[in-house]
Amino acid sequence: MPNTILKRYFGYDTFRDQQEEIIHHVCQGNHTLVVMPTGGGKSLCYQLPALMLEGLTIVVSPLIALMKDQVDALVNMGIRAVALNSSLSAEEQRATMNSIAAGEITLLYIAPERLMSDQGRLLETLSNYKIALIAIDEAHCVSMWGHDFRPEYLQLGKIRALLPQVPVIALTASADDMTRKDIVQKLGIPEARVFMSSFNRSNIHYYIEQKRDAYSAIVNYIAEHPQQSGIIYTLSRANAEMLAQRLQDDGFDAAYYHAGMDANARNTVQEAFKKDTIRIMVATIAFGMGIDKPDVRFVLHYNIPKNIESYYQETGRAGRDGLKSDAILYYSYGDVITMRRFTEVENNPERSEIMLQKLAQMDRFCNANICRRKMLLEYFGETYTVENCGSCDFCLSKRISFEGTIIAQKALSAVVRTEERFGIGYLIDFLRGSRSEKIWKQHKQFKTYGIGADISKEKWQQYFQELLDQKLLRRENAGTYPRITITEKGKRVLAGAEEVLFTLTEERVAVDEKKLLEYDNQLFELLRSLRTRIAYREAIPPYMVVGDVSLQELAGYLPLHKTDLIHINGFGEMKIARYGEQFLDVIRKYAKEHQLVSQISKKKSAKPAVKARPKAPEGLNASERMTLDMFLGGKSVGEIAAIRELHYNTIESHLISAIAAKEMSIEKLLPKDKIKRIREVVLQHTDARLAELKSKLEDDISYNEIKAVLTDVQSHG
Ligand code: ADP
Ligand code: ZN
Repeated sequence: MPNTILKRYFGYDTFRDQQEEIIHHVCQGNHTLVVMPTGGGKSLCYQLPALMLEGLTIVVSPLIALMKDQVDALVNMGIRAVALNSSLSAEEQRATMNSIAAGEITLLYIAPERLMSDQGRLLETLSNYKIALIAIDEAHCVSMWGHDFRPEYLQLGKIRALLPQVPVIALTASADDMTRKDIVQKLGIPEARVFMSSFNRSNIHYYIEQKRDAYSAIVNYIAEHPQQSGIIYTLSRANAEMLAQRLQDDGFDAAYYHAGMDANARNTVQEAFKKDTIRIMVATIAFGMGIDKPDVRFVLHYNIPKNIESYYQETGRAGRDGLKSDAILYYSYGDVITMRRFTEVENNPERSEIMLQKLAQMDRFCNANICRRKMLLEYFGETYTVENCGSCDFCLSKRISFEGTIIAQKALSAVVRTEERFGIGYLIDFLRGSRSEKIWKQHKQFKTYGIGADISKEKWQQYFQELLDQKLLRRENAGTYPRITITEKGKRVLAGAEEVLFTLTEERVAVDEKKLLEYDNQLFELLRSLRTRIAYREAIPPYMVVGDVSLQELAGYLPLHKTDLIHINGFGEMKIARYGEQFLDVIRKYAKEHQLVSQISKKKSAKPAVKARPKAPEGLNASERMTLDMFLGGKSVGEIAAIRELHYNTIESHLISAIAAKEMSIEKLLPKDKIKRIREVVLQHTDARLAELKSKLEDDISYNEIKAVLTDVQSHG
């Protein structure tokens, strides 16, 4: 049963969203396309079927670094996984191929170019073995419409010809329609069922803050979040280095990462980040692709990202484990201007135009007075109807409205008097009557010079932003520096023909840092350091020992016995056997010292019951299961009957039980037209006995076929 395997190997109690449905679909031998955001839980959609199906599951994955991590994590859960890649010696490769040939391997991870190398010779060798499933990770790489096209992925289209019987599951976090269609077409699985998940990352909190003293803001943030890992994205390599240096000087475990470093240096810091010896990674966008660290707690943007897709992707690296995480962007218009220069594509005016438009959208995103989450999801074509998401700066802010006509008129007249030739900085200085040399002498003679001296610089910045948002003012970017001009609407306000209502953010409501689970912080820290020691000893990242969710549950439910551990997230059989006693020792000692009692019964009762399957509460027996496995593995009813030395009828009845238990769909057993014909008769004569139904149908329909359809109809209620 999928649920048993989920618990036994992965240590989870329940499936997320569509996982169960997807796994079911895959196990029935169908082609599948899974579109799920980062952290959604895509891997389980092929890892679990791999454990259920007979034979080898081939996982195509583009990044060798990720491959290694995934294999390590699987092996650590007691799953037989290997990777074939260029980092293995010839000897190791031979050994790997031998264990595959011996049927000892469940999952094989491989890069596409490797799988298809030598005109597909390796694939041909593999096709001699029983292949259960082919999983294509990061499947958008096959599409030129995707953001990460890799020509070597195109070769994968040939798999279908060589292994026509093997089901394919393609997985991606790329949402757009064009890419999706392209993926199934290029992979030769146009009939694949598409499972689309919502792209809402509800555990990520989104904030966009005006960039003033960004360094102090960052230091405050990371100082308030000790022990947490995070990424700070900067635009340039130089910035990444400088910022990392400054943070180090101020005593933080920070390092930098960018494409200008050699592979060795990059690898070293990346590993250190995964192993928690470096807590803060200051990086350009080069960082992130090869990293699966589930407990990244914050992503800070020191500069504006180049478009909304990038913003979503970069912030998405936070909180894969589902725990609360923050994404903060420090916004300044100056950065938008700088970004423009980086955005322009040389000798390609068309592409430049598109990129500039995307940047403009990102700019609007930062300045819009709408829930960030809503705007983000709607950008990706989803509707989000929640009134207040409770986890973005807009929804968490209190706003006040007031009549601002006079203030607006002061600002507008400053723009007009200085002939629409200046930027906001100059205009504010002018309004505040700055004595600076920068202010032109003749401007200092104007009546409007200094009429806004009673208002602070920060407030003026907000007011100007509001005037831009309300389209009374406009930014002009032609020429070397941006200047502010007045719109027709602005002129009407200046003439007193229209009033202005300001809506300004007054204060940020403190986020209710309510924990999902009440747990003992001190115990959590003890468990965390035990985890660090284990990880160090085994030379793996701490999150591979167990994740933060597991530590929180340990510290919250205080399991005292090995049997209690079954109820803790992430503790599968292997982890209990390997690490159980060590964690239990710490908890027992702590509970005794502090006279605490175990709360594990709460967890047990909180566990949602496994969904009851109508009509077949007991599930399949061993013999039925064996038949089902063989059938889903590609054997025909006749072949199974022959191999198992059972009657043809018996095999069919096993499969009917499987349909009743919803472990298999009827479409696997019967051709569509037959199902349709039988179903029509069955539905018209709901009280009829089997023989009666048979008499109403053509002779080519057997009793078992009718039974199968009846069972299917009944099991769907
Ligand atoms: P993706 O590949 O979609 O980015 P992953 O497969 O890496 O996501 O899963 C993200 C995280 O969610 C992992 O830490 C994984 O262990 C966890 N996870 C996946 N499915 C479940 C589940 N059913 N219950 C609890 N945790 C899960
Ligand atoms: Zn919101």
